[in-house]
Amino acid sequence: MFTLIELPYAPEALEPVISAQTLGFHHGKHLQGYVNNLNAALPGSPYEGLGLAEIMQRANPAFGPSGNAAVFNNAGQILNHNLYFTQFKEIPGQARNDGRGAAAEDNVPTGKLADQIAKQWGSLETFQAEFVAKGAGLFGSGWVWLSADDKGELVISQEPGANNPVTKGLKPLLTFDVWEHAYYLDYQNRRADHLKELWKIVDWAEIQHRYSK
Ligand code: MN
Repeated sequence: MFTLIELPYAPEALEPVISAQTLGFHHGKHLQGYVNNLNAALPGSPYEGLGLAEIMQRANPAFGPSGNAAVFNNAGQILNHNLYFTQFKEIPGQARNDGRGAAAEDNVPTGKLADQIAKQWGSLETFQAEFVAKGAGLFGSGWVWLSADDKGELVISQEPGANNPVTKGLKPLLTFDVWEHAYYLDYQNRRADHLKELWKIVDWAEIQHRYSK
């Protein structure tokens, strides 16, 4: 049985980048729904007892008739959202009260991850622009991901639907959800504006931790 993860911050902690209302629906309704669906599908199936990444590998319909699209999609959405919700951090109260919250340029990675981004993209700004462009340009619902290969090289990828870079043997580090449920209450159709705002709340220490694991 899988359970709904607890958010590591208060519902209003990410405002105004993500409103408490959006967070409440996204976590309490959408993610809860994926958890309920997967738990209902697992008993008696060949995927019972496996972890989420392993379920994705075994149930992947791209790998042939042994796949199960419903199980793959619900397991993928749980794994994706668990990584998504735990990669953000509270905006300090003072900055939040100033209007649009903390400045994105004050929230930057450090350490090996920062070095690798600089090596591959030249600057954080160039990396962020490409990441946002890939998220904004993804047709329909899905996710834009930063992940790492086994040599520590970084990869930005567009993943449609519920997919996760683990299905390509990559280690997922950072993701922006581009399903409309992630931003429509706050930004309506302005997906790119939403994605640019997210840089203010990324918890780079958590991303660096994932990279070094
Ligand atoms: Mn979502």
